[in-house]
Amino acid sequence: MKRFENKVAFITGGNSGIGKAVAILMAREGAKVMIADLKENKETLEEVLKEGTEARFIACDVSKHEEVEKAVAETVAAFGSLDVAVNNAGIVDASPIHEKSVEEWQKVININLSGVFYGMKYQIAQMRKQETGGAVVNMGSIMSQVAEFGIGGYASSKHGLVGLTKVAALENGTNNIRVNAIGPGYIETPLLMDNAAQSAEYRSYMESKHAMKRLGKPEEIAKAVLFLASEDASFCTGAYLPVDGGYLIQ
Ligand code: NDP
Repeated sequence: MKRFENKVAFITGGNSGIGKAVAILMAREGAKVMIADLKENKETLEEVLKEGTEARFIACDVSKHEEVEKAVAETVAAFGSLDVAVNNAGIVDASPIHEKSVEEWQKVININLSGVFYGMKYQIAQMRKQETGGAVVNMGSIMSQVAEFGIGGYASSKHGLVGLTKVAALENGTNNIRVNAIGPGYIETPLLMDNAAQSAEYRSYMESKHAMKRLGKPEEIAKAVLFLASEDASFCTGAYLPVDGGYLIQ
């Protein structure tokens, strides 16, 4: 039996990068998958469906609580339960604090932090109704622990995400609901490659920050997400799991 047979997984930002890798791996392991993202990406959905399970897309801007509530409800209506939620959608800012516009700050916080709160608010409410409970995995970052120039909104949101994860884990410790966070190092995804990693010089700077002297791959994060979402992690809750090629140790 596959690890996520008869399970339903809801993944925000599931069209691209890390979220897409999670969607594909979840499907490969038997889960029914709901991809929640801004606009439909047929290619991604087809790749997930090729794994031989059920999968759907739902349009959902995670910074809008009504859309998140609707997306969670429609997932349950479509597939019958919500067993795994991966709050992964995120964006990055790029300007020093003294020059950052209020709009830029609010956009990052609304998506990366409020979006995770909205997600957990409705996901956990659903999981508490189910005898089988569930597992939530929130996508943090090395920037949940340390800092980098120009990402005041991003680093604040990712530090906050870890606090929110711990509170949710505490509040649900006896409800058969586990809540954990992952902290990827720099991963080769559109988010990174379209922004910081465009210059060869900056890419090699980023590689040098990891003990392993390379960037990570989306699949390497997806495997850790599946671990935390699975019964293999049955005694893990409130954890921040670095998956960062040794970024944080130096
Ligand atoms: P990508 O940009 O490749 O994927 C993010 C996905 O989220 C995209 O499909 C994007 O849609 C979607 N998205 C953006 N805003 C919203 C929104 N408001 N509501 C719903 N979906 C949205 O990024 P990554 O895969 O790199 O990042 C995924 C997560 O991993 C993020 O939380 C990021 O902070 C985290 N992370 C990434 C690292 C990296 O180096 N790549 C390192 C550490 C953490 P669209 O493309 O249409 O904007």
